[in-house]
Amino acid sequence: RMLPHLASRPVSFLRAPDGIDHPTFFQRHALPDMTAGIVPVSGGKPGKVYVALEGIEGLITAAQFSVIELHGWAARTPDLDHPDRIIFDLDPDESVLFTAVKTAAVEIRGVLEAAGLKSWPLLSGGKGIHVIAPLDGRNNWDEVERFTQGLARILATLSRERYVAVATKARRKGRIFIDYLRNKSSATAIVPYSIRARPGAPVALPVGWAALADVHAANAMHPSDALALKVDPWDGFFECAQAISTAALAGIENGLP
Ligand code: ATP
Ligand code: MN
Repeated sequence: RMLPHLASRPVSFLRAPDGIDHPTFFQRHALPDMTAGIVPVSGGKPGKVYVALEGIEGLITAAQFSVIELHGWAARTPDLDHPDRIIFDLDPDESVLFTAVKTAAVEIRGVLEAAGLKSWPLLSGGKGIHVIAPLDGRNNWDEVERFTQGLARILATLSRERYVAVATKARRKGRIFIDYLRNKSSATAIVPYSIRARPGAPVALPVGWAALADVHAANAMHPSDALALKVDPWDGFFECAQAISTAALAGIENGLP
């Protein structure tokens, strides 16, 4: 289930050589011995070489190098200039209840829907939810960034007591930071189905909108829950061909939710 999300996508590794309760580190490049199923990717900034995983073999190589988390760009080769998804990373302050995060996700879904975009929720395996809308490659980074920044700012303006659209920690008190900054070239977000290097090893699990109502925490799911899935919780995600329309972008930039 993870492979369709991973294919041709530049990734970063979070490695835990001594286990997840010991220091971990982030890595954007392959090691010399990391070869099987590991594909070098040039793109983004000139001269930079990143890495993608191809197939099961790539996942096995990653595992052999103690990679626990896989973080991916929001674009795939060969077209790294056109994102294949929009990601809103909802980051709640400690005091915010998970029900409020779920409400925020549903609210963002509604605003995206009004802009003509379908979206799906991902439990991050940490504290928040990522709302993800697939894109068919017609939009560039600039359009996606303007759209997502505009949308986050509108929600933060309309619901000051619940949302912030700036990363400043102090402003987050009791609120949810609508992090739209994942929507930039070379920015990464956790890949769906990745295990997290956090207590209990939760999974970043895709869920359906209806099923989200019954989930009690962003880190409630584990590998066994992922393995138990009979159907793809994101039914229709990969078949969904959509783009931010000129009208929707103009609407958001003019401050319409
Ligand atoms: P949570 O729901 O707890 O916020 P998350 O997956 O949204 O979980 P983090 O793991 O805290 O959040 O990561 C935030 C973003 O920063 C991710 O998109 C990730 O790809 C990126 N990131 C995390 N750690 C590093 C790092 N050491 N270096 C560069 N980028 C990182
Ligand atoms: Mn987050």
